[in-house]
Amino acid sequence: MNLIKYRGNDLYFENVSVKKIAKKNITPFYLYSFEQLEYNFNFFHKSFKSINPLICFAVKSNTNLFFLKKLKKLGSGADVVSIGELQLALKAGINAQKIVFSGVGKTKEELSYAVSKKILLINTESENEINEIIKIARSKKKIVTIGIRLNPNISAKTNKKISTGKKSDKFGISLDRCFKILKKNSNNKNIKIEGLSVHIGSQIKELAPFKKTLDVINKFLLKLKNEGITISYLDLGGGMGIPYSALETEFDLKKYANLVHAFNKNHKCKIIFEPGRYMSANTALLVSKVTYVKEIQDRNFVILDAAMNDLMRPALYGAKHDILPIQKDKKKFNRKIEFVGPICESTDKFITYNNYPRLKEGGYVCFTNVGAYGRSLSSNYNVRPLAAEIAINKKSYTIIRPRQKLKDLIK
Ligand SMILES: *Cc1c(COP(=O)(O)O)cnc(C)c1O
Repeated sequence: MNLIKYRGNDLYFENVSVKKIAKKNITPFYLYSFEQLEYNFNFFHKSFKSINPLICFAVKSNTNLFFLKKLKKLGSGADVVSIGELQLALKAGINAQKIVFSGVGKTKEELSYAVSKKILLINTESENEINEIIKIARSKKKIVTIGIRLNPNISAKTNKKISTGKKSDKFGISLDRCFKILKKNSNNKNIKIEGLSVHIGSQIKELAPFKKTLDVINKFLLKLKNEGITISYLDLGGGMGIPYSALETEFDLKKYANLVHAFNKNHKCKIIFEPGRYMSANTALLVSKVTYVKEIQDRNFVILDAAMNDLMRPALYGAKHDILPIQKDKKKFNRKIEFVGPICESTDKFITYNNYPRLKEGGYVCFTNVGAYGRSLSSNYNVRPLAAEIAINKKSYTIIRPRQKLKDLIK
């Protein structure tokens, strides 16, 4: 489903003219379609129907409270990576028994809070962390259910900066070590190790790395079975990729579902997924205004009022987001154009095009697929206020997080 389309020369999102919203709000701002979000969640759910997994949305990809409330309504749980995200997920109404907590560096304060809220699983990433939880559980006289994040030593064939499953990555615990930990703690009075989790990276478009991971886990679970150790929850993480441009292929979710279904026939674990990007990326546009069109010898720079602080992915990982004109001019630029932001960093640039429809200063454009790691990764660099978040609401719109006020930034 694609809710972004031109009617004549005007860009529409759902059934609303983007220009109409742009004219009434300070740019840049994020513009969401909750209809797209609902579609994504239901599509994911349907694709994995035979497995009936618990879907724990990766909150780090989008931290808007209304976005999370919408997901809660659809039946989603949450994967959180900090006490802040945990509190946000609870505030959105997500049941603690649908929340898993990941991350290599959870502090005592964070662990203690997670224990007190009785979340489903704390996915631990080191023996030191497990010992910390045992201490907390003992002092609170509680039994805490935890998971162990495995490092399956698999290359996710994605951008190096978003790979997390190689043994040289900081994430997870090796199989050998995990085996020892499970044996050592099988009768522990304060913790029950009920889950195993993996998350090998992000924006993975091929099935092969997921298949390899399932093979590794399959062998490991069989080894555990021989020792009389059973695992109730298997958390397969997120990482499913999306097409960032029309030329890219889609990730084959159904094929992945078939693999997981076949795998779980032998194990009968409760399967958990932690999709972030797959759920949220295509739910939002970032709307921006053209400040200047600056000509140099071989190209025009289109200088936008959106910058790397509003959308960090291009500067951080060299990611490419398509930029669409909100009103398509019939005439084209007669030379190459490069979209850039106003910040004094050479990495504050976005994308280059040939034959792009002409843009005027004061005209609008929008970045696509920015609902994941867009606003949630933005910063106040250059004392720039964080952009507003707006959701389309039938023929109109609702502001779901106002633009940060400059006076709050400089007090
Ligand atoms: C980031 C992250 C996710 C979500 O990754 P996506 O690529 O957005 O699906 C899931 N689980 C863990 C542990 C993560 O760190």
